[in-house]
Amino acid sequence: MNEPLSYVQPTPESPWGTYLGQIDRVLPYLGPLARWAETLRRPKRSLIVDVPIELDDGRIAHFEGYRVQHSLTRGPGKGGVRYHPDVTLEEVMALSAWMSIKNAAVNLPYGGAKGGIRVDPKKLSIKELERLTRRYTSEIGIIIGPNQDIPAPDVNTNAQVMAWMMDTYSMNVGATATGVVTGKPIHLGGSLGRVKATGRGVFVTGREAARRLGLSLEGARVAVQGFGNVGSAAAELFHQAGAKIVAAQDHTGSVVNARGLDLADLIPHVRRTGGVAGFAGGEAIADEDFWGVDCDILIPAALEGQLRPERAGRVRARLILEGANGPTTPSADDILNDRGILVVPDVICNAGGVTVSYFEWVQDFSSFFWTEDEINLRLDKIVVNALKHIWDTADRHKIPLRTATFAVACERILLAREERGLYP
Ligand code: GLU
Repeated sequence: MNEPLSYVQPTPESPWGTYLGQIDRVLPYLGPLARWAETLRRPKRSLIVDVPIELDDGRIAHFEGYRVQHSLTRGPGKGGVRYHPDVTLEEVMALSAWMSIKNAAVNLPYGGAKGGIRVDPKKLSIKELERLTRRYTSEIGIIIGPNQDIPAPDVNTNAQVMAWMMDTYSMNVGATATGVVTGKPIHLGGSLGRVKATGRGVFVTGREAARRLGLSLEGARVAVQGFGNVGSAAAELFHQAGAKIVAAQDHTGSVVNARGLDLADLIPHVRRTGGVAGFAGGEAIADEDFWGVDCDILIPAALEGQLRPERAGRVRARLILEGANGPTTPSADDILNDRGILVVPDVICNAGGVTVSYFEWVQDFSSFFWTEDEINLRLDKIVVNALKHIWDTADRHKIPLRTATFAVACERILLAREERGLYP
């Protein structure tokens, strides 16, 4: 009756295949709502756009752009925009679906969406990047808007990119529409605390999970993969709580120091050189050996598909905090579960970012701005409450936190689906 989608060919370990497997696992916990589950396997709307720009040397270059609105059932679409050479429609579909789950898991009044451009932004000049962003925004302008779908930063996009997106959309509609994107610069309607919010959410969920495990953060050894916006902010907060960052890895290399990497030196080093490689305050190790580093907490905060079976077998941490979206493959997830390693899944672990995006959107609508303390306090409260509800669900059904998060989120989405009913 319901044929698989013809426009993607997922495998069990590819992003969309991983997501479909996660939906299969949650079905037994959805009761009669499972009748609506096929909705979750079909993105509502997928837009593919051609993004042509003139390069600085006069040549014309074309890039492939996407915006996928997986679900609009609980509210407007919401989710970031990623610039990366490996972006595909299939990846953006999975990322948009994970946004639906994440937004519902923390009970934000949003559906789920994601966008991306298949491009290596490091090869573009700043002017080319601006032209790319503006043309992409115009192309997806037919489906985004403060009440329709609200983009935000993701891998390789930042507040400047959001400022260009906001300006382009505003020029096209003839009015300044600050609420069309979140993660903007502060003086353009951005929110205090947004830049570090994802890392803060990772810390808050990690603090709660560690407490339940009886693992003290004082002296805890933390390994972080990905030293960008998420990984470095989480590392700083763990450090402030008394933990040691014993290993860091990014696309440039891996460094370790059993006594703790000095973040006051490492963060400026990464900013200056573009990565952790060559950091004098640690010892370089082979990238594969990063996964076997002796530590208590492992934070994958880079890209999806990083924790694969062979790596999962080497992990020595007791707790994994998924700062990235989709960092663990399904077969690696099973290995970690069998080994008794607790995984706080992406769809709740990194939800701090979109939670503060929600605060930003609310502040833009009301044109009334909150203090950073207010934002951090509200973030803490929302994430802690959401995690508690998920944990109770996991205990009740004796299921992993990932399945429990999906159970909580899918129930909210499908209940809304049922109450709204099918049109026509
Ligand atoms: N890109 C972030 C995420 O994956 C944030 C999305 C948003 O703030 O809308 O959760």
